[in-house]
Amino acid sequence: MGSESVSLGMDDIDSPTGGCTTHFASLLVERLEPLIEEWKDYPHLIRLNPNIPYRTRGNGGVCLNFTIDSNEIGEIIPLVTGMVQKYADLKYPNTNPGVAIVNGEIPSTLKSFSQKAVWRTVPKSLAFRIADEHQIDYFTHGNGRGLVGALAAIGHGLEGDHTYEYLAYRKMSETHEDRGVEKSSVETMNAKMGNRTFSNLDLTNDTMLIEPHGPDPVLYGIRGEEPQDVIEAASYIKSSQEIDRWMVFRTNQGTGEHLSHHFSIDELRPYMSASLTAEIVEAPHIISGGHAIFAVSDSKHSIQCAAYEPTGDFRWDVMKLRVGDKLTIHSGVRPQSHSYDITLNVEGMLINQLADHVEYSNPLCDHCNRRMKSAGKDKGFKCPHCGHREREHKKVEHHVPRELQLGYYLPRPGAQRHLTRPHSRVGKQNLFSTKLIEIWHNP
Ligand SMILES: [Zn+2]
Repeated sequence: MGSESVSLGMDDIDSPTGGCTTHFASLLVERLEPLIEEWKDYPHLIRLNPNIPYRTRGNGGVCLNFTIDSNEIGEIIPLVTGMVQKYADLKYPNTNPGVAIVNGEIPSTLKSFSQKAVWRTVPKSLAFRIADEHQIDYFTHGNGRGLVGALAAIGHGLEGDHTYEYLAYRKMSETHEDRGVEKSSVETMNAKMGNRTFSNLDLTNDTMLIEPHGPDPVLYGIRGEEPQDVIEAASYIKSSQEIDRWMVFRTNQGTGEHLSHHFSIDELRPYMSASLTAEIVEAPHIISGGHAIFAVSDSKHSIQCAAYEPTGDFRWDVMKLRVGDKLTIHSGVRPQSHSYDITLNVEGMLINQLADHVEYSNPLCDHCNRRMKSAGKDKGFKCPHCGHREREHKKVEHHVPRELQLGYYLPRPGAQRHLTRPHSRVGKQNLFSTKLIEIWHNP
């Protein structure tokens, strides 16, 4: 029989009382270690479409890739199922774990399923159909939603641009206590690492982004370009809680992958993540709640766009847009509701062309050099100061300097998606996986 390549995917292994899929994966890695022959890659952490309504926390599946003696494959699903039942709070109605295993080549239908799951909604029924068609062994609980993430994580493969995340975990018994990550240590790390790590801090509101909130086992997470970078960065971090375990994941975070599809306005459907190139047809204004609203057209159709209040100063950039500006909008499509039409939730914009912003004023008087007034329609201008009249004078054009530049604008870092390509990654493509370094999880 010999050895066989295995991809083991999982999603939604968490509960409100603590726990998360990546933490579960780190326990599973330890448990599988004596069984397997070789790890083929870092665990994959695959972030899926952030704009779907029923997403799990962070909406990410995990996949482990390894080789194992063919005779042992049958033991894996029972082992993982037993662990899930112990780990996850299955009585909680919103826990819908899914685990799946694929031996050998990844079927192409599974790859295309995964590509779709990154930017649109995929029906749960499709996940079950693919699993049945390809005789994929799986375990689900609850509504079975977790199978979508489990299969999508297996099918992804991270063949394009990717990044890494170092995740440090605390003890499950300490998940309700304060993590105590020292901000000064994060600032030191951020300064030392430069662009080798990203999304560490949000300087617009002086907060740390590596430390999550909520009662999960994650102590902190550091995102970066290479495994060595995120491990080095972690060595600078100080926290009052101790690291119980840690692991490095390879991931599609920070790649902007969910926005790689371009659409015209009439092709947009609810919950898609979409890029579209359009022109401003209605200047932005602020509505109650502090959201900036404007409208764009792709010459055939128009649609309303919103930069919501949590995006912070990004709204003030949006407010500087003028009718005629051309831009590529990165967005999630919000369906029509009682009070709003279908709306693009703007999560980034690339300004391609700025319209000339022209304002007009009345001419100055030839005699006294003061501002004239209109003398009525088609009657020219009259000076209110000296009474001089001019029939032939026209309004004077002023080119108002634009406060925006061509280029890429993003919400404040704390309001960005896991998948958002941050400024520090513009133009970067990590296309070749770094070979497994010797120590990529706690020994
Ligand atoms: Zn005058």
